[in-house]
Amino acid sequence: MILNMDSNGKKLISILIPAYNEHESLPPLYDRLVKLMDSQTNYDFEVLFVNDGSKDNTLDLIKFLRKKDTRINYVNLSRNYGKEVAMAAGFDYIRGDALVLMDADLQDPPELIPEMIKYWEEGYDDVYARRKSRKGESPLKKLTSWGFYRVLQSMTKIEIQKDTGDFRLLDRRCVEAIKQLRESQRYTKGLYSWIGYNKKEILYDRDPRIAGKTKWNYRRLINLSIDGITSFTTSPLRWAAILGIIISCAGFLYMLAIILKTLIYGVDVSGYASMMVVILFLGGIQLIFLGLIGEYLGRAFYEAKRRPLYFIDSYNEHKETNMKG
Ligand code: UDP
Ligand code: MG
Repeated sequence: MILNMDSNGKKLISILIPAYNEHESLPPLYDRLVKLMDSQTNYDFEVLFVNDGSKDNTLDLIKFLRKKDTRINYVNLSRNYGKEVAMAAGFDYIRGDALVLMDADLQDPPELIPEMIKYWEEGYDDVYARRKSRKGESPLKKLTSWGFYRVLQSMTKIEIQKDTGDFRLLDRRCVEAIKQLRESQRYTKGLYSWIGYNKKEILYDRDPRIAGKTKWNYRRLINLSIDGITSFTTSPLRWAAILGIIISCAGFLYMLAIILKTLIYGVDVSGYASMMVVILFLGGIQLIFLGLIGEYLGRAFYEAKRRPLYFIDSYNEHKETNMKG
């Protein structure tokens, strides 16, 4: 491990925060971060904000904070790319020996960071915070995310961490590992599991968002779920094939039954209703599986383009041209 110790021999912890239209949350967030950073005198800190094309004055606020406090750095993306890509950009720019990833809306309490550091020092590479409770989230959102984790886990051998968000501490080697995964349809939560390494769970109560509105809606949640499953496993394709075999076998048996019936009782033209049911049912199944194949094909299409993940406008005060990730 390359340690980034400065002259006083302290390790550097980078706190990575993707921010999209968060100007209301930033001041309270900064206050709590400063308290935390000042209390942890054994470490140096860097806070890296990734401004994900915010339309309010998030960027101005970050610049203002950087003038006051040199521990603040920022990456300004060229437009809004979404949280997954914003995080990937942050991974490329952090300098620390360890990375703490958190949301800007204070749903992830910074006060948990010392505990994460403690486990990191004990040798864990990925200390992730698992939600005991989720205040301020609708029962439907709780139910859907509960269901989603279970479905995803049932499809893969790799262990998925349930009720866990992106709030975690990662050792430098996890960061370097994830930096090598350049897929454009990102599902970062799956990537943490995929890279492996020593994981440690800590429990916390997830607070409601401090200000502003969540950028999530059900459409995005459904999209993320589909991305999660299709980026992680091709087992739905296998299921489709198995179901196809079962239906074909049933169809074959039914065919034998009809042949026998016709031989014994003669020609029978009734059965319009049952025929319609079978045609509609099988037609529906075929369309679903066509969509499923399309889903994987679409992913292959995007990955085949091999576009850079993002472009950045500036890193701190430096304007960047053609900087890409
Ligand atoms: N975020 C982002 N880009 C986006 C949407 C969200 O960088 O396009 C950031 C946002 O600023 C916040 C984090 O991702 O720091 C989580 O977003 P949010 O609170 O809306 O999601 P939720 O907590 O409801 O899952
Ligand atoms: Mg949030």
